[in-house]
Amino acid sequence: MANLEFKVFWDECIRQIRENKIDEAEFHLWFEKLVYKSYDNSQLIIETPSRFYRDQVLSRNYNTLIEKTLEELSGSRIKVDFIISENKEEEVYDDDDPEEIAPVRETVKKSIPVSERRVSHPQLQTNFTFDNYVIGNNNDFAVGAAKAIADNPGKTQYNPFLIYGGVGLGKTHLMQAIGNQVYEANPQAKIVCIPSETFVNEFIQSIRTNTQNNFKNKYRKVDLLLLDDIHDLQDKNDTQEELFHTFNALYDFDKQLVFTCDRPPSELKKFNDRLKSRFQRGLMVDLQPPSYETRIAIIKKKIEQTNYTGEISLEVIEFISRNITSNIRDLEAALNRIIGYADIVKKDITVETVKNLLQQYFSVSPQTAVNIAKIQKVVSEYFNVSIMDIKGKKRTQKITFPRHIAMFLSRELTDYSTTEIGIEFGGKDHTTVMHACQRIDERMAVDSTLEPMITELKKNIYS
Ligand code: ADP
Ligand code: MG
Repeated sequence: MANLEFKVFWDECIRQIRENKIDEAEFHLWFEKLVYKSYDNSQLIIETPSRFYRDQVLSRNYNTLIEKTLEELSGSRIKVDFIISENKEEEVYDDDDPEEIAPVRETVKKSIPVSERRVSHPQLQTNFTFDNYVIGNNNDFAVGAAKAIADNPGKTQYNPFLIYGGVGLGKTHLMQAIGNQVYEANPQAKIVCIPSETFVNEFIQSIRTNTQNNFKNKYRKVDLLLLDDIHDLQDKNDTQEELFHTFNALYDFDKQLVFTCDRPPSELKKFNDRLKSRFQRGLMVDLQPPSYETRIAIIKKKIEQTNYTGEISLEVIEFISRNITSNIRDLEAALNRIIGYADIVKKDITVETVKNLLQQYFSVSPQTAVNIAKIQKVVSEYFNVSIMDIKGKKRTQKITFPRHIAMFLSRELTDYSTTEIGIEFGGKDHTTVMHACQRIDERMAVDSTLEPMITELKKNIYS
């Protein structure tokens, strides 16, 4: 088929995709700027405005969608290739940051006022403060200790202070919050805040260039040493030895030391025992993953910090909290994606949109963690009735109310239909389930104690 004739197929393909295959916002974002270039020998060439754009089209598998649609239309297999327009005006993609999609990037840029972009201490992030750190029962002890240290560095018995815990749980943020507070109270204080890797590299470099004295002077004369990720020192014997001496020099003069580690120091491998015991001399705290309730509080805080002006409903916040349970870094990344998306499509964020975005970026299959059995168990414990009664037929008030609540939560928190929920509740009819949900809805409208109770139950279900 000739070049121009094929354009008819292309136009039809685009029309079908728009009408039947994806939603309008997505179409507007990723299809409108595709330009038909040429067709030859079952190979179609399409122009995209930028490399970023092309990468997005491919990563979203739109090439497959196009190929499939064309095959349906033309009856033969077509290969689509994307080229990049010579005109670079549209380029918004930053080569240094391949992971970040442009929209998110733009939002982040916009949200930081110029005045705050100034780095107050070259090694401290201005937003890693106590004010921005949400306290939950996973970290309250650690935060309390960190604040006491920041008020009186080197003067409490918490020296050294060691924060440990898994990735993305807030170790670096908490450590830097100490640094920021000390720096604010005393800008003259000598604060060093570096990853352990930097310490290793500078030490090696000082040996190479025969400048060990400079190195020693630099690190043995600070008021506050914040050393991040000390697990990276495993297997680095000479650097460990050097840190041991740095440690002693500072400790003996009541200078504050703070370390972070991805595990308790006792579990460090290939580590100098003397140094290990030094780490354990002061106070060690661990950061746990945040509970459902804390995840909600963190998301609310993060939303406040962006300049997103649209509405994000509690339902959406709860949905994200329910599905991203791993750590705070993931939670934050998810939220940034969602806000970035909402910012460009200029639409309200619905649970449905969030579901799609999370699946796309985080391979999350929504709500797998909750099943009806878990809901029944939590509700039965909360009201002190047996699961058998919840699933049974007794109709005393003591039992029907918890039963209705459990049905209501099953409908709200799972993807089961009312028919399926009925089956899980001892083979009841779907109208019974609908009736129960309606009763709870009605009661919620007049009884203000119900909502906190339901929140509490959800918290227990997800914790
Ligand atoms: P870690 O060093 O443990 O891997 P980070 O300190 O880098 O984790 O935290 C990852 C992200 O999560 C950071 O952006 C940080 O601001 C955010 N974060 C972590 N804990 C909290 C918290 N309690 N409240 C608000 N934000 C948090
Ligand atoms: Mg860290």
